[in-house]
Amino acid sequence: MSKLEDFLNPTQEEAIVQAIWEAEKKTSGEIRVHIEAIAEQPALERAKELFHVLKMDNTKEGTGVLFYVAVDSKTFAILGDYGINGKVPKDFWETVKEVLQMHFKHGAFAEGLVKGIYLAGEKLQEHFPWISGDKDELINEISKG
Ligand code: CA
Ligand code: CA
Repeated sequence: MSKLEDFLNPTQEEAIVQAIWEAEKKTSGEIRVHIEAIAEQPALERAKELFHVLKMDNTKEGTGVLFYVAVDSKTFAILGDYGINGKVPKDFWETVKEVLQMHFKHGAFAEGLVKGIYLAGEKLQEHFPWISGDKDELINEISKG
């Protein structure tokens, strides 16, 4: 098992956080990234658990979006809250997942996340545009473990 620090160096972490800031300039969606080594349950189940643990269900309109990655388990999930899932088409996350998949395959975790987050921002903008007075409801930091 490798160390989490090996997956993302500080520069890469910074690029991901920057991508979240940029994406959230376009949309009222609130994006977070959580990374761990091993997923001890199916990725989507774990993402649901973390969603609650990270208090991502505390947004006003249910617009939280979690990018969950279990690096050693080579699995990930993207989970949107009720406000988003109730409004977007069923295949909404497919193209974002493809971007992640394509990069993760080559071990390019940071690049995959950055590009996926930018794309998510653009896609979310259609349904959840940024509006004046928007608050940063969920902290734009990567959480781990
Ligand atoms: Ca916001
Ligand atoms: Ca945020």
